[in-house]
Amino acid sequence: MPRRHEVLHATEIVVIDGPTAAPDDIVRVGDPFAISVRIDCASGCRLGSRTLEIRGPDGSAHAVEIVDGRATAIDLVASTKPGRQTWTLSYAPAPYAPAGQSVPSHAAVARDWSYDIAPHTASLAVWGVPDTIPAGQPVTLTVGATSTAGLVLAGRTLEIRNALGEVLARPILGKAPWPGTTALLWAEVHSTAPRIRASPLGLPTL
Ligand SMILES: [Zn+2]
Repeated sequence: MPRRHEVLHATEIVVIDGPTAAPDDIVRVGDPFAISVRIDCASGCRLGSRTLEIRGPDGSAHAVEIVDGRATAIDLVASTKPGRQTWTLSYAPAPYAPAGQSVPSHAAVARDWSYDIAPHTASLAVWGVPDTIPAGQPVTLTVGATSTAGLVLAGRTLEIRNALGEVLARPILGKAPWPGTTALLWAEVHSTAPRIRASPLGLPTL
């Protein structure tokens, strides 16, 4: 409890900068990002060095030093789950003023800050398919996949199915990107054309 001659000032945590929802500023699962905060005193004090605790959606916590009422470019890492995630910011007040001094103390305050974490997306491509393939004859083509998470799809298995849903091939994506690309992983597929005329090859699936 504050002593009678001390005045407890209300404080507020304001998030003054962070990721936006712009297409080129999307935070995806596991991505690093940064926020900046300001601690306001309702009575207009300039706040000195204090500590802000940030607890993430995974329960991890770390302390950030507040200098001159601010902490800028606080490095955070997006949760491993997509969707709306919440961080809890807690401002730890300074110890009360020594006896005999009427320096005001500042109230502890906490607030939540939420942000939508996007999932990673993947896209698939097929190339090198001959214009016509004799029914029942061997066919070689190339399939590829890219992910917004970079090269995480290396070693993943694709499935190529025919129009009946039967699996024709299970190519495994390599670790090296297709020449000239940074993240298009690929695999060569050796399969057999359907015996039914004009029966399409199914699109690959992850
Ligand atoms: Zn104050």
